[in-house]
Amino acid sequence: MENTLALMRKAALAERIPDAATRRGRLDALRRMVKEHRDEIARAIDADFGGRPAQETEILEVVPVLGAIRHARSHVARWMRDERRAPSLAFRGGRAWVRHEPLGVVGIVSPWNFPLYLCLGPLVDALAAGNRAMIKPSELTPRFSELLADLIDQAFAPDEVAVIKGDVDVARAFTALPFDHLVFTGSTTVGRHVMRAAAENLTPVTLELGGKSPAIVTEGYSLDDAAQAIAQGKFLNAGQICIAPDYALVPVGQEEALARAVLAAAEKSYPAYFAARDYASIITERHRTRLENAVAEAEQAGARVLRAQGAWGGRMPPTVVIGAPDQGVLMTEEIFGPVLPIVPYGDLDDALTFVNRRDRPLALYAFARDRTTQRRILDGAISGGVTLNGTIAHIAQENLPFGGVGASGMGAYHGRDGFRRLSHARSVFRPGPIDAFALLRPPFGRFAEFAI
Ligand code: NAD
Repeated sequence: MENTLALMRKAALAERIPDAATRRGRLDALRRMVKEHRDEIARAIDADFGGRPAQETEILEVVPVLGAIRHARSHVARWMRDERRAPSLAFRGGRAWVRHEPLGVVGIVSPWNFPLYLCLGPLVDALAAGNRAMIKPSELTPRFSELLADLIDQAFAPDEVAVIKGDVDVARAFTALPFDHLVFTGSTTVGRHVMRAAAENLTPVTLELGGKSPAIVTEGYSLDDAAQAIAQGKFLNAGQICIAPDYALVPVGQEEALARAVLAAAEKSYPAYFAARDYASIITERHRTRLENAVAEAEQAGARVLRAQGAWGGRMPPTVVIGAPDQGVLMTEEIFGPVLPIVPYGDLDDALTFVNRRDRPLALYAFARDRTTQRRILDGAISGGVTLNGTIAHIAQENLPFGGVGASGMGAYHGRDGFRRLSHARSVFRPGPIDAFALLRPPFGRFAEFAI
């Protein structure tokens, strides 16, 4: 790892500022790699999950990565342009501008839930910004990591992009390297370790973490419409999505109706003859046991547990829980699985307080027809990002920054925001014919008569 970093450092310094054509060339290499091997990639992820629909990999990983590459490719030359700024009043006649320069070598640490998208999404931004990158994929997707390492080896020079495979010890050593920037996607707990390790090197970090993203359904909004959007966001990848709606808040008395509607939506999306093909497995037995224990704990505490009917082929069925205890696992930890607690609220302000009492979530979903209520929710509750009257889709907006706030992360990426995040905004000033600063040279005695 140290050798690869040293090699990249040297190459980055020698190259310094790659031009737009070079950056586009690297993005093209990445595009070819993904396009030519998309089926192999889907198969590797399927095998790692013990069942992950190829269509999910295509729609949620391959297509977004190719979209990000296309977007960066067509805008990178403009993003790179120096930005002229107005000089301060006393310095009129001078020139001030900002250069967006590469940082050098970026480290990328990814989780297992979207292994391709979360390794290559940050890489697209790193390459567009003219950096080199080392990627540490998750140890829970070994077949994918193996494949990615081979493909990256074939597509890039060893001093451009490299994949470091290995377990948590390797991850720990990786995050202790003196990168010029570290993009970490994973849990809030590990995020704290990563930031601590990076602090030793003063390596700046972008932390893309998790949390409990609420879905607030407001009075008067069609429960069926809300349920369909919530079910889609919750049961894709069997709920193993950082921005999946974690729990739903509904006006008191509507819990049962929303629960039925969510289960009906799940049964419609995964009819018996398709369920086992279109619905993902939980990544490991350990993760599944954790989820089942959390549900059992709620049930023992008196909660009602409802499961979608269907042929789930041994997979964990979409599950809805009414009355999960506030202090139980389901309401205190990020669920990260196909389990949706439904929580009633009295007044909308109570729902907003409920959200704000917890750690700041990565996403927030609000189902409200009128703009005033939408605005009230946006103003009233804090989150990393928002989709109104839907779920998940804000992450797919190439012109919007994606990131968390508070415990759900720091720093955002994607598109121009990702380019900027992984660039150094370098300020340059060149005085004009009258150099205001030079006029201020000592001895100061000569200014005695001026009141400054
Ligand atoms: P994780 O934090 O357990 O692991 C993520 C990565 O960190 C892995 O590559 C792992 O090898 C590495 N790692 C583990 N321990 C480490 C340590 N001590 N030091 C350095 N690196 C270490 O997360 P996970 O279980 O793979 O993924 C699920 C979590 O990721 C959820 O909390 C989810 O919300 C979050 N997530 C966030 C986003 C986002 O964009 N914000 C996207 C996907 C997942």
